[in-house]
Amino acid sequence: TKTYDYLIVGAGLFGSVFAHEAKQRGKKCLIIDKRSHAGGNVYCENVEGINVHKYGAHIFHTNDKHIWEYVNSFVEFNRYTNSPVAVYKDELYNLPFNMNTFYQLWKVRTPEEAKAKIQSQIDQLNIKEPANLEEQALSLVGTDIYEKLIKGYTEKQWGRPATELPAFIIKRLPVRFTYDNNYFNDKYQGIPIGGYNKLTEALTEGVEIKLNVDFFKNREEWESQADTVVFTGNIDQYYNYQFGQLQYRSLNFEHQTLETDNYQGNAVVNYNEREVPYTRVIEHKHFEFGTQPKTVITKEYPQEWTAEKEPYYPINDTRNNDIYKNYKDLADQESKVIFGGRLAEYKYYDMHQIIGSALKKVKDVFQD
Ligand code: FAD
Repeated sequence: TKTYDYLIVGAGLFGSVFAHEAKQRGKKCLIIDKRSHAGGNVYCENVEGINVHKYGAHIFHTNDKHIWEYVNSFVEFNRYTNSPVAVYKDELYNLPFNMNTFYQLWKVRTPEEAKAKIQSQIDQLNIKEPANLEEQALSLVGTDIYEKLIKGYTEKQWGRPATELPAFIIKRLPVRFTYDNNYFNDKYQGIPIGGYNKLTEALTEGVEIKLNVDFFKNREEWESQADTVVFTGNIDQYYNYQFGQLQYRSLNFEHQTLETDNYQGNAVVNYNEREVPYTRVIEHKHFEFGTQPKTVITKEYPQEWTAEKEPYYPINDTRNNDIYKNYKDLADQESKVIFGGRLAEYKYYDMHQIIGSALKKVKDVFQD
């Protein structure tokens, strides 16, 4: 018999939730991760007493009461509400697009005036069938919002002019005719008190974890140790790229410690001009109402992805989705390998969705 029931490749949220649930059911698990720490992309590094979101700002939000209660059973959450502000040249705007934004743009004060302003700009453009992302956005929100708050940010994110991006990337652009700067519409939102590591540590309590271990460096050896593999890494790599490589967008994070207790007064400030090379500046302490004497900020630069860089956002165009489908067909035939998580499913998932999908997988596997 094998040493473990499950070998879990990847100590991210998917692997951690699966490990917790399997352990609850009396199963023996080993988690391996190629990084020097557990937690996957929600991992935070402590700098000057501040939890620094090393792989990008993470804000937990969900409409699902069950998932909210599930995460709160491991760690308490604070009342952080995401209310980003956007800088465009020397102007500052509230996000998401709401009555505060419209007042800042046009000095309009009533929903009726704001709606009329947006509609008149849309009518003037007279776009019948949007041929690209620019026309799509313009036909949804008009010229001012598009030029100041969408165009530059989107072009930096994708590394291409908006006129060369497909219209389908933007399906809707939520506009809100109330004075409400809460970015998310979900019922529940917050940050774990003490940081995300508290959540992933509580999930994996009592589970063996080996760090700095790449599954592919010694694949047969790892596979031989467990009855079943739960794989949360890149699915194309699992199958030796036999149908080709799946593409991603990547990010470069530039972290800085500053000798001030408050740099920008908000956790998230977007930079919307094309000319500013980063898209956002994150000031981490504000996620937890920190009162430390110093502060840590992170500039986020979107970049092209190559094999040495972190794969952040899947590019779900036709080419990549077709390639993924080939891998998925192979995965569906496996009886001793479970695939899950954002890399194995080649899909952007928020944290609550990853937890939901891990719990669903657990239900299927253990039939309870
Ligand atoms: P991961 O966390 O990536 O875990 C996979 C793990 O597998 C990694 O630790 C990796 O090192 C390991 N691994 C891979 N290959 C191997 C191998 N060969 N051998 C060993 N180990 C391996 N969600 C929200 O809800 N709110 C947000 O505000 C939010 N912001 C985000 C911002 C950014 C920039 C990004 C990219 C994502 C954001 N998310 C957010 C989504 C969130 O990060 C994911 O939902 C979640 O982290 C996915 O968990 P996972 O376990 O699938 O993947």
